[in-house]
Amino acid sequence: MSSNEDLFKKVISHSKEYGFIFPSSEIYDGLSAVYDYGQLGVELKNNIKQYWWKAMVQMHENIVGIDTAIFMHPTVWKASGHVDAFNDPLIDNKDSKKRYRADVLIEDYIQKIEDKIQKEVDKAAKRFENFDEPMFRQTNGRVLEYQTRINEINKRFVETMSANDLIGMKELIDDLGIVCPVSGSRNWTEVRQFNLMFATQMGSTTDTTDIVYLRPETAQGIFVNFLNVQKTGRMKIPFGIAQTGKAFRNEIVARQFIFRMREFEQMEMQFFVRPGDEIKWFTHWKEERIKWHYSLGNEKKYRFHDHEKLAHYANAATDIEFEFPFGFKELEGIHSRTDFDLNAHQQFSGKKIQYFDPELNESYVPYVVETSIGLDRMFLAIISNSYKEEQLEDGTVRTVMNIPSFLSPYKVAVLPLVKKDGMSEKAYEILTDLQEDFNCQYDEKDTIGRRYRRQDAIGTPFCLTVDNQTMEDNTVTIRYRDTMKQDRIHVNDIHTTIKTLLKPQKI
Ligand code: ATP
Repeated sequence: MSSNEDLFKKVISHSKEYGFIFPSSEIYDGLSAVYDYGQLGVELKNNIKQYWWKAMVQMHENIVGIDTAIFMHPTVWKASGHVDAFNDPLIDNKDSKKRYRADVLIEDYIQKIEDKIQKEVDKAAKRFENFDEPMFRQTNGRVLEYQTRINEINKRFVETMSANDLIGMKELIDDLGIVCPVSGSRNWTEVRQFNLMFATQMGSTTDTTDIVYLRPETAQGIFVNFLNVQKTGRMKIPFGIAQTGKAFRNEIVARQFIFRMREFEQMEMQFFVRPGDEIKWFTHWKEERIKWHYSLGNEKKYRFHDHEKLAHYANAATDIEFEFPFGFKELEGIHSRTDFDLNAHQQFSGKKIQYFDPELNESYVPYVVETSIGLDRMFLAIISNSYKEEQLEDGTVRTVMNIPSFLSPYKVAVLPLVKKDGMSEKAYEILTDLQEDFNCQYDEKDTIGRRYRRQDAIGTPFCLTVDNQTMEDNTVTIRYRDTMKQDRIHVNDIHTTIKTLLKPQKI
C-alpha cells in the first residue's frame, strides 16, 4: 500500500473514531456515497461555510446571499439543459457486473502513464543533485515516449467526449486494452448515457403528481431569482448572488469517501457582468478564489487546470485542483457561463430577464462568471492535509490535526490539572466566560498528558490548564497544539490572547 493510500485510510478511520464523519444509516450497513457529519464534523463544516460566506458575501458590498428551495419547477431543469444533457457515459463489465464511468476509466489509464513519468522524474532527481525537472522532461527518451502516448490518447478522448461519441469511447477503451479492476477482464458492454438527476413526485394523488427533481446544483436557484434580487436589492451591474446548500447527483461511481457523494453541499456565487467584460471578471475571480485557498496555507497543494473542452454554456473555465491523498483533483470550478442560463430561462418562462444599464442607457441579458466549490470536498482537503503522525523525542507518536486554528471545531479546551482544591470550579468559571465567544471543551478525566493528546487529535489549537499556581496568582498554562510549547498567562488576558491568535490571515 502506498503511503498516500495509507494516509487516506487513516484519515477516514480517524474521522469516524473522533466524530467528524459517519457512514449514513450505519446500523443498516450504510448507504452508498452518503455520509453524516458528527459532533465535530458539523462544527468544522459550519466554520468553513462561514469563512466562505464572509469572504464572498460580507466582504463585498456588491454581493448578496440567498437561500433557495431544493425543489424547483421542473421546467428549470429543461431550460438549464440538465434534463437532456446532464449525463455521464456508463459502462458495465460483464464478468464482475461492476459499473464504471467510461470517461473515468480512460482518465485513470492516463493517470497511470502520468505516474510512470513521475517515477522516472523522481528516480532522476535522486541521481542528480542539481536536477532540472523541465529540462529532464524535454530530453529524456522514455518520458518523451510516455508523453507522446498521453497526447495521442488525450486527443482521441477529447474528440469523443466533445462529439458525445459513445461508440468512439468504447473503441478507445478496447484499443487501450483497459481491464476491469475487479475481474481483470475486457468483457465490456457498450457505453450508454446515464442521467445524474434524482427524480421524485410532488402531489398526493397519482393523477395530479408531477415529476420534480432534487436539484443537482444550487446555481439555478440564483438564476431564476435574478430579477427578484436585482430589483429588491437595487443591485447595479457588476454584482453577485451567492448561496450555499445541498445538491444531489446520482453519481455512477461514487467513491473516495466524501470526495464524490450522492448528496453533497455546494457554495456557489454567480457574478453578473456586462457582455464583453466576462473574461476580465473571470480572471479577477480566478485570482480572488486562489487567494482564499492560499489563506489556509499550503500553496503548493493547489493548481489551476484550465479546461480545453468547454461545456456548451461556457466560454472559459478552470478548475482549482487540490492535492488530495489520491492525487490532484477538482476542488472548485470557475466558469464564464456567458448569458446561457438567463437567456434559456427567458425563453422557457416567456418572461423578460434583462438589466437596464443606466450608464450605457440600454438593456441587455447580463453575462455570468460563476465560482462553485464543494463544501464536503473542502472539508476533505482540510482534514486530509491536517492529519499528522509526529514522532516525538521521547519515542512516542502523537496524532495531531493542524486544522487552521480559526476553523477548528473547538478553539479552547479548559482542563483542571486535578479534580480537587477548587480547580474544577475555577476551570468552570473560565470556561463559562470564554463560551460566549469561542467554542470550548471542558475535560477533567485522565492524566493531563492524555487530555492534551485528545485535543491534538481533534485539532483544538489551545489548551488552558488550571493548576495549583492558578489558585495562588490567577494565571493558567496555555499550551499550543502545533508546537506543544507552554506559556503562563493571566486569566484576565486569556480572552484577548486567544482572539488575536485566532485571526485568519488577511485575504
Ligand atoms: P466532477 O468533475 O468531480 O464530477 P463537476 O465538474 O461535475 O465535478 P461541478 O458541477 O463544477 O463539478 O460542481 C462544482 C463543485 O461541486 C465541484 O468543484 C465539487 O467541489 C463539488 N461537487 C460536484 N460533484 C460532487 C459530488 N458528487 N460530491 C461532492 N462534491 C461534488
